[in-house]
Amino acid sequence: MRAPFLLLLALLAALLAAASGLDLHRLSQPVAGQAFNDADTVDTLREMVRIESISGNELRMSQWLADRLMGAGWDVEQQQVEPSRYNVLAYHPANRHRLKALFSSHIDTVPPFLPFSENAETMFGRGTADAKGSVSAMIHAAESLNSTIAAVEGVIDPTQLGLLFVVGEEVNHIGMRHANELNLHSVEHFVSGEPTESLLAVGHKGMWKFRLEIFGRAAHSGYPHLGESAISPMLDLLRELNTMALPVSDLLGPTTLNIGILGGGVAANVVPDYASAEIMVRVSTNLAEVKTLIERVVRDRATITDLSENEPFICDTIPGFNTTIVAYNTDLPFFEGDHKSYLLGPGSITVAHTDDEQISKRELVDAVGLFRRMAVHMLAQ
Ligand SMILES: [Zn+2]
Repeated sequence: MRAPFLLLLALLAALLAAASGLDLHRLSQPVAGQAFNDADTVDTLREMVRIESISGNELRMSQWLADRLMGAGWDVEQQQVEPSRYNVLAYHPANRHRLKALFSSHIDTVPPFLPFSENAETMFGRGTADAKGSVSAMIHAAESLNSTIAAVEGVIDPTQLGLLFVVGEEVNHIGMRHANELNLHSVEHFVSGEPTESLLAVGHKGMWKFRLEIFGRAAHSGYPHLGESAISPMLDLLRELNTMALPVSDLLGPTTLNIGILGGGVAANVVPDYASAEIMVRVSTNLAEVKTLIERVVRDRATITDLSENEPFICDTIPGFNTTIVAYNTDLPFFEGDHKSYLLGPGSITVAHTDDEQISKRELVDAVGLFRRMAVHMLAQ
């Protein structure tokens, strides 16, 4: 009778714990007598930023990561996406098809390469924030899960957490699109690591990228009445687009529009017969509504060519985490399946893609603890 009675007690205790919510802070601490060595995260990031991995040139980075992870005992698959471009999937040998949660980020960066440098508090260089800081913190969080109270008390099984690092996020999400062929259907929780200043994003805006073109008729600039300028009406149209009212979402804030590229004309003394503009709209409500509003302004004044688009994305949240919204795109909408999605990473998007890209060492090390808490939350469900 004794064994079933103890089992019943254990069950009751588990039910009580579930009803009261998990103490993520306590469970993600190291078990007595052990300590985390999160400072290694700085060394890992230092090595990664020294490797140039601008989108399309990720080969050395993926090889370095695969070696690094295999050296730590992970089973690693390198998935070919294109010649010389590989996603890296790491998992515990027992759980290839039973992964419950995935930490994921991207290993490509925008150009140009910015060499690594550092001082006592800060690391500088391309990818420090977007997104190698997340990659490094995720690896160290995953590898330190074993010595958490949650693991030692059997609340979680750390081997159900995998790592997926992909190519091509900065251009067309080709890496994540291919990762859908990796048979990761068991995954219930998916974390994307991108610079959110270590806040949990409640969602990110969608986007619509399109090109406008106007065709006119060339003429000698001294006889403009013989031609038809393409640039003048383009300027009028762009001014209208720049100042038009765009929808606002309570959750994701305003929809915004950026005229990123402008072209046209051949010489100052020629009436221009061609003008073009590339525009990116960050959509906070829904794509169809925003496209209709803009198409109503453009009408037949220019041709519109769709270049790329996706809907806004709403993320899942975790009790106890501070939240934010972000205005950039991520790989999250491109990972298919029925799972919860989270977005968090150290570093700021305001320095990503700039010549001043950097990350605070303190924030980087703290992110390891945040990712560990997320892992406990996800694996204990
Ligand atoms: Zn990124």
